[in-house]
Amino acid sequence: MNITSPVEFFKTLPPKQCPECGQVIEEQAESYLMECDHCLSKKTE
Ligand SMILES: [Zn+2]
Repeated sequence: MNITSPVEFFKTLPPKQCPECGQVIEEQAESYLMECDHCLSKKTE
């Protein structure tokens, strides 16, 4: 059985991925940060 249910999908999700550029974001304490450093720096201008 290789059916990936939505629940299993979320369990196996990568740590985090930037919705702006798709770059995988390494886990960090600031979990509220949704974008990578590059996109964040652009937004905070
Ligand atoms: Zn980004």
